[in-house]
Amino acid sequence: MPPTAVPSISATHSASRSSRIAPHSHIRGLGLRPEGVADSEAAGFVGQTAAREACGIVVELVKSRKFSGRALLLTGAPGTGKTALALAIAQELGVRVPFCPMVGSEVYSTEVKKTEVLAEVFRRAIGLRIKETKEVYEGELTELTPTETENPLSGYGKTVSHVVIGLKTVKGQKQLRLDPGIYEAILKEKITVGDVIYVEANTGAVKRVGRSDAYASSYDLESETYVPLPKGDVHKRKEVLQDVTLGDLDAANARPQGGQDIMSVMGSLVKTGRTEVTEKLRREVERVVKGYVEQGVAEVIPGVVFIDEVHMLDIECFTYLNALLESPMAPTVIFATNRGNALVRGTTDVISPHGIPVDLLDRCLIVKTEPYDKTQVSKVVQVRAGVEGIRLGPGVLDKLASEGERASLRYALQLLTPASILAGLSGRKEIALEDIGEMNELFLDAKTSASKIGTDGAL
Ligand code: ATP
Repeated sequence: MPPTAVPSISATHSASRSSRIAPHSHIRGLGLRPEGVADSEAAGFVGQTAAREACGIVVELVKSRKFSGRALLLTGAPGTGKTALALAIAQELGVRVPFCPMVGSEVYSTEVKKTEVLAEVFRRAIGLRIKETKEVYEGELTELTPTETENPLSGYGKTVSHVVIGLKTVKGQKQLRLDPGIYEAILKEKITVGDVIYVEANTGAVKRVGRSDAYASSYDLESETYVPLPKGDVHKRKEVLQDVTLGDLDAANARPQGGQDIMSVMGSLVKTGRTEVTEKLRREVERVVKGYVEQGVAEVIPGVVFIDEVHMLDIECFTYLNALLESPMAPTVIFATNRGNALVRGTTDVISPHGIPVDLLDRCLIVKTEPYDKTQVSKVVQVRAGVEGIRLGPGVLDKLASEGERASLRYALQLLTPASILAGLSGRKEIALEDIGEMNELFLDAKTSASKIGTDGAL
């Protein structure tokens, strides 16, 4: 049986993920011409043309399924756009392609095994597009009574999630009565006739999700005034698409809630009471998903896993990554590092390029990012200031570009927001040179900071 309702996509977007992607909101893709050539400025990117063109080839390889079992390794100094390139690759692969960034050191948690952290991020990077059929009721609100206790969804089957509050059908035969809790929620949310609402089947929570103008009317919930006679049709089945990830399904199965959404439907395949995502559970979820794909109900959308500071992983993680890369449902894997030759963590004597064991390096295509010159820093700063709605006074762009060239592009960009706060505190609408001066007194860039610390660690 195809799923009838799916949970909100918001579950797939963690707060940490969005805060990591926010600084790259000006990046809209690799900015390549159809023949694969990078213009010096395009799609929010400035420079880094050779790396962008190389990434374009990787996109083509992924699209033609010739990249499986392999990974891309981006090398280059901090702030030279490695994360931006990885995000752009995901964007080039398609709008709904999940992008899951992480930093190597994240695997070192006291609660979760290192390999589990990796397994989870790989699962979150496999998107699923699920077609579902929803029952949509559209009718006129003709009656609201807090005394009725019948479950509002019961008369219409258990799969209803979207309802235009229609207590009476158009033809007036069916009466949809409201649970007092839902009635209260409706009052609280100031729902009126014509609002399309979502009633969470388990909790009875009510959320306004839109308007159906065909039914707009002026029913006053406070005074409980009755509305005119119903009009239009009431009973529709609509096909909608919902995006979730394998990670969402794993989590839902590990903590089954009961209910009618897809998580619960799939969760019911597995015994209740689990709290952990196990390998067995993952295989079961995959089996169900495969079934849905075969029925044409779901489509798998492989995403992108981006592991920054990959040299922070240890030998155990690298071994596990080799296995993950081989799995049939593997996402596109991109690593980034700014290290040269380094000891492979977890070993005592294995020195390897970028601190990555050679067997994994063998699977990697390596792309290098170049440092930026002052003009390029200036352009990126200008783009970011535009995106963030920050105005720069005379000479400020030039000053920031010099700072960026001296320290790093990231440092120049990081000055923007606090400097605009300083400007605001001084009652100005644009950043002035003095704000940047003050910022430099208050904060240090990494190079200056390091040079001020003696070898004994004393400032
Ligand atoms: P790290 O190694 O420290 O993680 P990184 O190489 O991943 O650094 P990013 O985080 O991608 O660097 O870049 C820093 C900031 O500069 C981001 O806001 C990014 O979007 C922006 N940026 C970097 N390179 C470019 C570029 N060529 N064009 C436009 N914006 C860029």
